[in-house]
Amino acid sequence: MATKAEQMASPYMSCHGSPVLKKNIYDNDFVCPECNFHHKMEPRDYYERIFFGKNNYTKINHGIPYEDVLGWEDTKKYTDRLKQAKKLSGLECGILSVEGKIKNIEVVMSCQSWSFIAGSISMPESESVLAAVQRAIEKKVPYIFIAKSSGMRMMTNNLSLIQMSRMTMAINELKRNNLPFISIITNPTTGGTSASIVPIADIIVSEKNAVYGFAGKKIVQNSSSEPLPEDFQSSEWAQKNGQIDKIVDRKELKDTIYNLLSILLKRDSNLNSLKNDDVSEINIKIEKAS
Ligand SMILES: [Zn+2]
Repeated sequence: MATKAEQMASPYMSCHGSPVLKKNIYDNDFVCPECNFHHKMEPRDYYERIFFGKNNYTKINHGIPYEDVLGWEDTKKYTDRLKQAKKLSGLECGILSVEGKIKNIEVVMSCQSWSFIAGSISMPESESVLAAVQRAIEKKVPYIFIAKSSGMRMMTNNLSLIQMSRMTMAINELKRNNLPFISIITNPTTGGTSASIVPIADIIVSEKNAVYGFAGKKIVQNSSSEPLPEDFQSSEWAQKNGQIDKIVDRKELKDTIYNLLSILLKRDSNLNSLKNDDVSEINIKIEKAS
């Protein structure tokens, strides 16, 4: 079996049983051109390839609180993990928040990085969300959160768990200002992230083939006497159970978000690419929410 280093060095990936050139996947916005599997994509790629275009967005700055408050060490020192995560992701923390325009609609957006300790959230990530929400309120524009996360960062123990309520309070403030909030689930979105900021959005969109749930499937299975469905915690399963409003291909993401924002902001827009059924489904939800 190939080691992780060998897999990283290989020019091929295997998402559907046979090798496919990594370059072909990267060039297709990290979606396999053969099986349509949506691979993980980093914040800058979402901003540059999908939503805004290169150099067409502005980073929202925020403070970075001192992180290793517990002097944590497991198989590695936490400070070493942080150094490695910063180098690997090119980010100062696990969330990059920016402002930009989706077509003619100004938005503020935050996106999680899987390269930064598996998209985990601690104090700096929450600071990024708070600064982004504050900016959305100042500008009176919608807020969008792209999730990809293993949950809260256990190296900072309850200080990371507290961030779930801080982010929730920030979103409540956004709602008090009548500003739309959309969350986008990408593969995987689990742990405290799926139990705080993501499910309280006005509309919850998911990319195809995302895992969405709180505890891992094996943990849930061990605490249940019933066998779990084959598709348990898939985005399709979550949609059937009312946890997700809409599942889309990555290539449809920008148009979908634009159309949803146009409806939420009650703006005239080109809704032609949205099927009639989709519009009425969304309108029903908005009526219920208001
Ligand atoms: Zn594939």
